Amino acid sequence: MKSKSVIVIGAGIGGITAAIHLAKHGLHVTVLEKNSRPGGRCDRLSRDGHHFDTGPTLFVMPLLYEAEFRALGTSLREQLDLRRVDPTYELVFDDGTRLLLTSDMQSMCEQLERMESGSFHGLLRYLHEGERHYRLTLDKLVNCDFRKASDFFNLDTLALLFQLKPLINHYRNVSVYFDDPRLKSAFTFQDIYTGLSPFEAPATYSMMAYTELAHGVWYPKGGMYRIVESLVELAHASGVDFIFDAAVEGIDTNNTCAHGVLLANGSRLKADVVLANADLPYVYQNLLPRDEMAVKLSRKRFSCSAISFFWGVDKAYPELAPHTLFLTDDYRENFERIDRDLSTPPNPNLYIHAPARLDPSMAPNGEDTVTAIIPVGHLSEKNEQDWGVLRHEARQQVFRRLQTLGITDFETHIKFEETFTPLSWRERYNLMKGSTHGLSHKLTQMAYFRPSNKHPHYRNLYFVGASTHPGTGIPTAMVSARLVSQRIVDEQLNLQ
Ligand SMILES: Cc1cc2nc3c(=O)[nH]c(=O)nc-3n(C[C@H](O)[C@H](O)[C@H](O)COP(=O)(O)OP(=O)(O)OC[C@H]3O[C@@H](n4cnc5c(N)ncnc54)[C@H](O)[C@@H]3O)c2cc1C
Repeated sequence: MKSKSVIVIGAGIGGITAAIHLAKHGLHVTVLEKNSRPGGRCDRLSRDGHHFDTGPTLFVMPLLYEAEFRALGTSLREQLDLRRVDPTYELVFDDGTRLLLTSDMQSMCEQLERMESGSFHGLLRYLHEGERHYRLTLDKLVNCDFRKASDFFNLDTLALLFQLKPLINHYRNVSVYFDDPRLKSAFTFQDIYTGLSPFEAPATYSMMAYTELAHGVWYPKGGMYRIVESLVELAHASGVDFIFDAAVEGIDTNNTCAHGVLLANGSRLKADVVLANADLPYVYQNLLPRDEMAVKLSRKRFSCSAISFFWGVDKAYPELAPHTLFLTDDYRENFERIDRDLSTPPNPNLYIHAPARLDPSMAPNGEDTVTAIIPVGHLSEKNEQDWGVLRHEARQQVFRRLQTLGITDFETHIKFEETFTPLSWRERYNLMKGSTHGLSHKLTQMAYFRPSNKHPHYRNLYFVGASTHPGTGIPTAMVSARLVSQRIVDEQLNLQ
C-alpha cells in the first residue's frame, strides 16, 4: 500500500523533529523551508572564522533533551558532545556587585550571605519548591497532549492550582525567600527565556532557576547549531526530504481538509496531511483563508522581542564569562517598558555570550566572537518605533556595561557587526510582531488554553512549535513534535 504523505511547512526544531517521528512511522515526509538552511530561530551566522548562534545560546533542561532524543531512537550523548557550564552565569548588578551562579553550594552560600544574611537558607527553600514545580510541570503539563477539554479539566489539574502556585506572580513569590532586590532578580530573570516578565509569570517558573542549578546549563561542542545538524542527519537517515528556498504562500483547503500547499514560485504540492511548523499565528493570518481564529489570535498577547548584536573582534577578552547577565536596579520598570510601552528600557537588562570561552573553534585564534541580546518590546501597529534609534541606544548600553567590567576598547576592536531587530525576526522567520518567543506564556495562554496542535475545522491540518503547546524553547519544541506526531499517527494512520 502506498504510504501517506505529509508536508511539513518549516524546518525549525519542531518541524524537523516531527518529520523524523513521522518518517519512522512509515509516512512519506517532505519539509518545505523558506530559508536556504534548516534551524529556524536556532540559526547560525558564520563570517571570517567567527561562528554565532543567532538564536538559542543556552542548553537547559538536559533531562528533557535526553528523553526526546531517546524517543527518536538515539541518545543525547550519541548525538552531541556536551560539557557543563559551571558557573552558569556571571551576574553583574548596577552597584558593581557580581554573583556567580553555580551548583557549588559552598560558593553559593558564601556569595549569598555576603549579599543578604540568611539568604542561603532562602535559596535552599526556593530550590526545594522549584524542584516540585519542575517535576509536576513536566509530568502533568508539558508532556501531556490536551486534545479535548476533559484531558485538562479534571481533578489532577485542579490540584495543580495549589501545587504550582499558578495564581501568584513569580516576583511576589520570590520575595518570600529573599529581601535583597538583587537576589530577587537573580532568581527570576530566567522568565525572560519564555519572553515573560517575572511580574506576570506565575510562581511556577521557579522551576527554571532550579533546573539550571540542579541539572546544569550545558554547551554542545560546535555550538547550539549542532542540535540542528544532528536532527537533520537523523531526518535524512529516516528518509525525510527537504526542499530549501521553498516559501509556502498558502495552504490549499476545501471545506473540511487541507490537500496541499501553494509555493511562492507558483507550483503546487499535494499531501494527505499538512503540518505547519511556521509560527502558528502567522499561519492562521497568512496561509489560510481568514477566519475568526486569525482575528482572535492577533488580539492575544505576544512575548517580547530582542535586539541582538553579533560582533567579530580582533582581540580576545578572557575576562568575559561564557554567559554574562547585567541585571538592572530598574528591574520592574524594565519589564513595564517592554510589555506595556513595547519599547526599550533606558537602562536595560542585557545578556552577553562569549562562546569561544567554551569552544575555541568559535573564533579565530587570539580573537573573539561576542553576542549581546537586549530584550525589547515586540512590533507595534500603534506605537511609533524607530528601530534605527533604538538599536543605536541599545548598542551604547552594551558598550557602557562592558566598561564596568574594565573593557574599554571593545568598539575599536570590532572587525564586523551584524544586528537583528524585531523587524529582522519577522522577516527571517515569519514571526508575527517580530516576537522572538511567539504567543506569550502567560497563564491564560498555556496548556489547554494555548492554540491546539490541530486545526478546529480541517481534519488533517496540524501545528508544531513555539506558539502551540507546550511553548518556546528547543527541548519543548521537540516535545511539541512528539505529541503532534503521535496525534497524527493516531488520527490519520490507525483509524484509516
Ligand atoms: C533570540 C532568541 C534566543 C533564544 N534562546 C533560547 C535558549 O537559549 N534556549 C532555548 O532552548 N530556546 C531559546 N530560544 C527559543 C527557541 O529558539 C525556539 O523556541 C525554537 O527554536 C522554536 O522552534 P520552532 O519549532 O517553533 O520553529 P521556528 O524556529 O519558528 O522555525 C519555523 C520555520 O518555519 C519557516 N517558515 C516560516 N514561514 C514559512 C513559509 N511560509 N514557508 C516555508 N517555511 C516557513 C521559518 O523560516 C523557520 O525556519 C530563543 C529564541 C530566540 C529568538
